This record gives sequence, structure tokens and C-alpha cells, in this order.
Amino acid sequence: MIDVSVIKEIKKYAEDENVPIMQDEGIKFLTDFIAKNNTINVLEIGTAIGYSAIMMALTNDRVKVTSIERDEERYLEAVKNVKRLGLEDRITLIFKDALEVNLNDKYDLIFLDGAKGQNINFFEHFEKNLSENGFIITDNINFHGYVKKDESEIKSRNLRGLVRKIKNYIHYLKTSSKYETTFYEKGDGISVTRRKR
Ligand code: SAH
Ligand code: MG
Repeated sequence: MIDVSVIKEIKKYAEDENVPIMQDEGIKFLTDFIAKNNTINVLEIGTAIGYSAIMMALTNDRVKVTSIERDEERYLEAVKNVKRLGLEDRITLIFKDALEVNLNDKYDLIFLDGAKGQNINFFEHFEKNLSENGFIITDNINFHGYVKKDESEIKSRNLRGLVRKIKNYIHYLKTSSKYETTFYEKGDGISVTRRKR
């Protein structure tokens, strides 16, 4: 039995501590996607406190998730949460900067949910780990609606820089010769990328 109250507590912790976990609509999209595509091996960049990794693992008991987090406090909270749900044998947590992690396994799904300005780097670092028919899903493609705003409306210089990087990533996906991408207006904006065939 899935302990729904533990999931609620994880969501409450995220809200109280301002941890940007996936929105309900995004999580539903992701878990439906996993169920529909018979996804088994998932690699996640950006564990935070383990919420999305746990939700993905709970879609069915064949799903295995490897997830990377560079913030120690969040990583430790994720370790705790995964234990609370008894998912230690199906969720592997790595405490490290994702760009310093080198993996040999292939994954059916690579879920990019780390630093929003780093998506091209994450993509290029991990594409060798994508299985033949695998997908790369990226969260926060709309970045709270800022990506669709006129730059002059964005007051903070840092935020403008970040939005520019997300736009670059979208352009990178749209113009790729190797991959094709579909963009979904779900949650904070989600893209689904696969190899062209
Ligand atoms: N996927 C989570 C939310 C992740 S929030 C969920 O929906 O439940 C994004 C996380 O990515 C943050 O905790 C941040 O510390 C982490 N992160 C950002 N850049 C990273 C990097 N280069 N390597 C590892 N973790 C990173
Ligand atoms: Mg996100």
C-alpha cells in the first residue's frame, strides 16, 4: 500500500521550505507518460527532496529511478523520504553535481529538472545514456510564464539571463538535426524529445 499521508507530508515540506517540486499537472503528465510508454529505467537530474523520483517509482513496481542532486540538505531529505516509502531498492540517489557524474547505463527516460540555465549542458552530457527509443523530458520550459514575456517586462538582470538560456535551449531542441521535440503546455511547460527516425 502506498502511504498517501507521507506523500502529503513531502508536499507540505516542499511548500514550507520553498522547494520547487513539480506541479500536480506536471507530475500527472510525467507519471502517465511512464505508464503509457512502459518506461523502466529513469535518470533524473535534480532530485530535490525526492518527490518526483518517488512519484515516478510509484507508477508501477518495475520502474527504477536514478536521481542526482547537488544540494546536501535536499539530498539527505530525499534519502529520508525514499526510506519512508520503502523504495530504497528502486530509487538510487547520487549526491553530486550532475555534470560530474559519469554513468554507463542506458535509460528509457532522462528527466531534466536541475538548474534551468544548464539544460543544454545536461542534454549533451547525458545523451550517450539515452536508450535507442528513449525520451528526454524537460520541466519548466515556460519558467513561470517568463519565457513568453517580452524581455523588457523582466526587471531583474539575473532572471533575464536565465530566461534567455531557456529560450536558447528551446531553440536548440527545435533546430536539432538528431532529435525531435514536442512541447506541452502542462504544469510549468514540458518538452518531450526523442531521436529522429
Ligand atoms: N525534480 C524535483 C524538483 C527538482 S528542483 C521534483 O519535482 O520533486 C531542482 C533541483 O535541482 C534543486 O534541488 C537543485 O539543487 C538541483 N540541481 C540544480 N543543478 C544541479 C546540478 N548541476 N546537479 C545536481 N543537482 C542540481
Ligand atoms: Mg521543475
